[in-house]
Amino acid sequence: PFHKSKGQHILKNPLLVDSIIQKSGIKSTDVILEIGPGTGNLTKKLLEAGKSVIAVELDPRMVLELQRRFQGTPHSNRLKVIQGDVLKCDLPYFDICVANIPYQISSPLTFKLLNHKPVFRCAVIMFQREFAMRLIAQPGDTLYCRLSVNTQLLARVSHLLKVGRNNFRPPPKVDSSVVRIEPRKPPPVVKFKEWDGLVRICFNRKNKTLGSIFRQKSVLSVLEKNYKTLQALQLSQMESSMDADTTVDVSVLGDTLDDLSLDVEEEDDEDMEMDDGDDKKRSEFKEKVLSVLKKGEFEDKRSSKLQQADFMILLSKFNEAGIHFS
Ligand code: SAM
Repeated sequence: PFHKSKGQHILKNPLLVDSIIQKSGIKSTDVILEIGPGTGNLTKKLLEAGKSVIAVELDPRMVLELQRRFQGTPHSNRLKVIQGDVLKCDLPYFDICVANIPYQISSPLTFKLLNHKPVFRCAVIMFQREFAMRLIAQPGDTLYCRLSVNTQLLARVSHLLKVGRNNFRPPPKVDSSVVRIEPRKPPPVVKFKEWDGLVRICFNRKNKTLGSIFRQKSVLSVLEKNYKTLQALQLSQMESSMDADTTVDVSVLGDTLDDLSLDVEEEDDEDMEMDDGDDKKRSEFKEKVLSVLKKGEFEDKRSSKLQQADFMILLSKFNEAGIHFS
């Protein structure tokens, strides 16, 4: 009766359900979001603990079973079931998310939640063990990766419970872990796309030095393309700003006016020396990139050991030099 493709593994151990409820710190005033309620074993205890539960379930058969289970109980008017794919629907307001999710949606779901506004208090989610370990990995850990760095930019993450596969019917092929995710308040002031662009490049070869990563032709050519696009855009904005009737939205670029004028001056200097053609231009850009790494003493460092703060400094130094990742 269970769909493997929908990741249907039902929690069969009531003690484990109790322990998840207890560790999630639900308040009696909380609106709770549950994703993939299935037959409702977790839902029942969420309804007892919080003010109301909104449950998003993909499988219509499960939705029916859920409605049947709570029909005519004192809980029924505090449960709202939404039938659909959680990745495709607009999420309603919630204070806390508690869920035993289908593992195939772990990554997109995590970032969907972390982008949700208004910011919720916390999410307590069952993940595949290895995914959970990646989420919480610290610099120097084997599993430290782009997922760790990006999640930890937006949230504080901690491990709550180890869960063996035999707590589920049918048992999945892997062990699981329950993780707590608390969005940072206020959210970080970096642009996520820029941040992720940098982190993605750094973790493409996470055990190489940044010096060798940023010497790769493919990396340099992408960055140079961004650089030129931005320069051209800024130049055309400068021109139109001389026209008194035009309003310039510099904020599109996320740079201050100071940055803008600096970059344009640099561009002028380069133009004068640029007669030798493309090769020279290319190596000048490479030197620009490498000088950022050298000045910040990043050249010999490896991504696998960099802290959040290091990525933050690296990104702002690149941005100051007009180098962008999105
Ligand atoms: N919460 C239940 C429990 O612990 O016993 C069931 C958990 S089961 C691992 C995952 C549930 O998510 C299934 O009921 C499945 O139908 C549902 N599901 C799968 N993909 C989904 C999606 N994209 N959006 C919402 N629900 C989904």
